[in-house]
This record gives sequence, structure tokens and C-alpha cells, in this order.
Amino acid sequence: MLYTGDIGEQARWIIGPGKKGVLDVKTVALIVAAGRGTRVATTSGAAKQYADLAGRPMLSYAIAAFLDHPGICSVKVVIHRDDEAEYAGVAGTFGDRLTPPVFGGATRQESVLRGLEALAGQAVERVLIHDAARPFVTSSIIEGVLRGLDEHDGAIAAVQVADTLKQVNASGIIAATVPRQTLWRAQTPQGFRFEDILGAHSRAAAEGCSEFTDDASIAEWAGLRVVLTEGSNCNDKITTAEDLEMAQRLMAADTARATEVRTGTGFDVHRFGPGNEVWLCGVPIPHDCRLDGHSDADVGLHALTDAILGAIGDGDIGAHFPPSDPEWKGASSDRFLADAARRVAERAGSIVNVDVTLLCELPKIGPHRDAMRKAIAETLQIDVGRVGVKATTTEGLGFTGRREGIAALASASVRLPVID
Ligand code: MG
Repeated sequence: MLYTGDIGEQARWIIGPGKKGVLDVKTVALIVAAGRGTRVATTSGAAKQYADLAGRPMLSYAIAAFLDHPGICSVKVVIHRDDEAEYAGVAGTFGDRLTPPVFGGATRQESVLRGLEALAGQAVERVLIHDAARPFVTSSIIEGVLRGLDEHDGAIAAVQVADTLKQVNASGIIAATVPRQTLWRAQTPQGFRFEDILGAHSRAAAEGCSEFTDDASIAEWAGLRVVLTEGSNCNDKITTAEDLEMAQRLMAADTARATEVRTGTGFDVHRFGPGNEVWLCGVPIPHDCRLDGHSDADVGLHALTDAILGAIGDGDIGAHFPPSDPEWKGASSDRFLADAARRVAERAGSIVNVDVTLLCELPKIGPHRDAMRKAIAETLQIDVGRVGVKATTTEGLGFTGRREGIAALASASVRLPVID
């Protein structure tokens, strides 16, 4: 019953992406994220629309795509009642053009109706309905649907069927090959005039018609003329665990293209003085002297802090924490390191790996290496596998050889967004 209209005619109406421009009519995107998606298991046990995709929940990509499009005034999401807390985590990162969510129903059709009802009375002229499980929707797909809607009752993103289609009998034997020339796969967004689609959905619900699998089929049933616009194979719905894996690979490749890795180095020296322990890489080590300095004189963390600051081109430890400032007297150096990590996060960056080399005759570093790596990993909030700590003597040569002090070298690699 899906395509009762003249598909041949619809196919001739394919509209490509047009020119961008701010549209005057009030157009809202309604994202449907109320399903349970039982075919994809997420580590947190959450529904698939909250599954991790390159460090962000899947749902956030569709929200961002619509909010970024100049033709969309606001975005509303239909969520499952059980996902309220998960959703709050996603929504918190967007501004108030993402309006409060609405709870969905038992089926997708019911969920869309609830979403449309929640938009009623707000002077919405057009609505684009989109599946949360299509995170790769692009600006040009959205644009295509908006342009199609300029001239038709409805417009939906679609992709021409490329594979040969087989009809099978009950035993799985091919009964026929189905001509595919006029067949298209319906995607979302699907755009309609608001009153039209709300009316069609309400009537379908009132008449107990609940077997529709997308909004266009309800529009067709209600007699609206719906045009196909250019979708994309990337815009396919993420349904299975295999789809999710593929999406994760694709998104990771996207991220790699949009970011670059930068490297910084650091060096520091502190002299020995009277005392009974030294702090090295965040770990106190009993010793027959201490390291002199304004803070706790953790030479390893100082070199590392400078390496991270160097990678993001943001001064050095002395500039941010002047030794002349009494606030830093005796300070624990993990504060300096945490501050450098915060500066990386502030630039939407992430630390790829860090490596510290300590130069000293004593104390022996080996027994403390794992504790040091763990301390650094905790302060930087990265995996311990991304942290290296090494030590070497200088064969009795120079100031470290004479046991007058300890020197440290460090390097840090940081992944940052490419900003032209
Ligand atoms: Mg220092």
C-alpha cells in the first residue's frame, strides 16, 4: 500500500540541492528518537540513538545538522520516557533553539503524532520529520527537502534502488525479479506543511490505521502529493550492530579529516636540597634529599605541563603560574598539569599521548613507573596506555651525574580541530 501514487511521475520530480538561504516561513525539525532499537546493543544499555559515535551520542549529530541549517527555526525531539536522563545529557550541549522534548508513544507513528501535537498552536508552517538513527543527514539533503516543499505538499529524501530486487517464495527460492527502475528507498527528513501532516496523522489515528512505516505513506494515504528529493546512501538508517560499526568507522574518518595532531616539548630542571622525599610525576618517593622549588618541584610534571602548553601554543608554565605568586608556593604540580589539560579541552582538543623522560642517577624510577603513569593518566583523564614514563642516568656526567639535581624532558601530542 506504500506507493499508491504515480511513482513514475514522482521520479521525474527529483530535485537536487538548491541554493542556500534563510527562509521566511517558520520551519521546525521534529526528530524521532523514541524507539528502543533492540537490534543494537550499547555499552551503557541505552537505546541506540544514544550510542557513542566518535565521542558523541548518535542523536546529537542529527540535532546539530538541523540547528546548523539556516532554514530551520527550531528543533524538537520525541524521546522515550525512560531516556529522560540520557537525553538531558545530549540536550545540555545545545542552546534554546532546541526546544523541550516530548514523550513518544508505543509506535513510531504514535510518537510522530505526539510530537506534531506538541508543536500545535505555535504558528509552525512547515515541519521536517527525521529519524534520530540517521546521523549523517547533511545540509544539502535538508536543503533539497525544503526546496521540494516550496512546490509540493510534501518532499522526502530518497535514494534510487541500486541492487537487483528478488521476490522469493516461502522456501526462499526466487520467484521473480522485480523491475527496479521506478523504485526508490524512502529516507528522512520528510517535510510537509504542518497543518496537512498533523491532519493526516490525526485522521489515521482516529481511523485506527496504524501500519504506516513512514510519514510520507500517511501523506499519500491522505491524498497529498509528495515529491522525492536527493537523499544519500550515507543517510541510511542505523538499524543493526553492523550498521553502527560502519557508522563509527565513517565518523572516525570524518574526525581524522577535520582535526590535526600537534606536538609540543618541555624541559625542566630542579636542584636537590635538604629533605627526605622527592615528588616525581605526581608520586612521592622517599629519598635522602628533596627537590628545591617554589611549588612541590615536580620536575616531571613541569616538563609535561610545558609540553602540552607547547602543543596548543599557549605560553608556558611560568606564564600561567608565576613563581612570584605566593598562591603557588608549595602547590601540588598536578594542578598545573590539570590546567593544561583544561586548556586543551577548551579548544575542543584531546590529548593523544604524552611521554616523560627523567634524567637522574637516583632515586631509581623503575619501581615507581606504573604509579607515575597512573597518576598522570588520572590528572589528564586519558587512558594509561597513552602515557609513557622513562628514566635514564647521564653516566655520571654533568649536574645530574654529580647528583646535584634532576632534569626532565617531555613531549605531548594533541589532536585539535582544524581551523582555517
Ligand atoms: Mg619547574
